[in-house]
Amino acid sequence: DAKIAGTFGRIMGWADKYRTLKVRTNADTPADAKKARELGAEGIGLCRTEHMFFEEDRIAAFREMICSDTVEEREAALEKILPYQQGDFEALYEALEGNPVTIRFLDPPLHEFVPTEEEDIKKLADAQGKTVEEIKTIISSLHEFNPMMGHRGLRLAVTYPEIAKMQTKAVIRAAINVQKKHSDWTVKPEIMIPLSCDSKELKYVKDIVVATADAEIAAAGVELEYQVGTMIEIPRAALTADEIAKQADFFCFGTNDLTQMTYGFSRDDAGKFLDAYYDAKIFENDPFAKLDQVGVGKLMEMAIKLGKPVNPNLHVGICGEHGGDPSSVEFCHKIGLDYVSCSPFRVPIARLAAAQAAIANK
Ligand code: PEP
Ligand code: MG
Repeated sequence: DAKIAGTFGRIMGWADKYRTLKVRTNADTPADAKKARELGAEGIGLCRTEHMFFEEDRIAAFREMICSDTVEEREAALEKILPYQQGDFEALYEALEGNPVTIRFLDPPLHEFVPTEEEDIKKLADAQGKTVEEIKTIISSLHEFNPMMGHRGLRLAVTYPEIAKMQTKAVIRAAINVQKKHSDWTVKPEIMIPLSCDSKELKYVKDIVVATADAEIAAAGVELEYQVGTMIEIPRAALTADEIAKQADFFCFGTNDLTQMTYGFSRDDAGKFLDAYYDAKIFENDPFAKLDQVGVGKLMEMAIKLGKPVNPNLHVGICGEHGGDPSSVEFCHKIGLDYVSCSPFRVPIARLAAAQAAIANK
């Protein structure tokens, strides 16, 4: 085993000498983050925070929030989740030892969080002092025919700014604590706002984030640098990237959604008919696995070309599944991305692919 580890380390060391693309990981648990660090990840490129809301106490508080009538009630419900979120982020910063950590705000549609079982609905009604019928009315008001194109991503931060404020506080408080413990690290939180399609919409949410973060930092009497960026995963965001770049420190391409929305193929259902496309020789590859360079890729190139002149410090990455696919990694190198982010076990593949891309495109 030691011999294999030695050989692996040597090969990876060669790859790292040549590559210019940084390799980060998609991780939302400390275990995944540590595994990815061992495999050479240089940061977290995507922490999907939605997974953190499903533990029992948290989901109960989140459901209370959804069914509350006033801002004060919503804030009080979210206040119960804040310490958990702060702990989640502290553990990730610890695992990353001062490397960048990109934390993405809650993304899925709200209806995914509401109870479906009668018993849970009754529990929620009792906790809220409401009738079961009233709770059911709230739940049915959240129903959407196309939830993936609906009330999710930063749209949640527009309708429920309290969620964005709570997550910002957790990100910043956690960073301040970990920074205090490790004065030799520079803890680098990056707040990522998902699913934007318009610069005014992004500004609206960014302003909430910046006001909340700056108040936290001032109250703690410390210095902390943080970044606020957005995912580019709706074609309109790529098409208006010059405006979007004025509101963002970084772009991260969410090519899972960008592929879905560029093709108009549901990412959750495409497998059901794509086989017929291979048989008919319309497609050679699954566009959700290998980046479609002529369509989706063209939008990425356009976003970079529009965004960089407006914001020369803009750093750009990818965190869709394609970030760990070698041909997609080569494309990312060619169009000038700064990093790719992929699941922990694909980190070595991305390191090798990034080195090959650098050598092949000298
Ligand atoms: C994406 O859309 O590519 C992405 C990384 O986000 P998610 O898969 O969570 O929608
Ligand atoms: Mg997405």
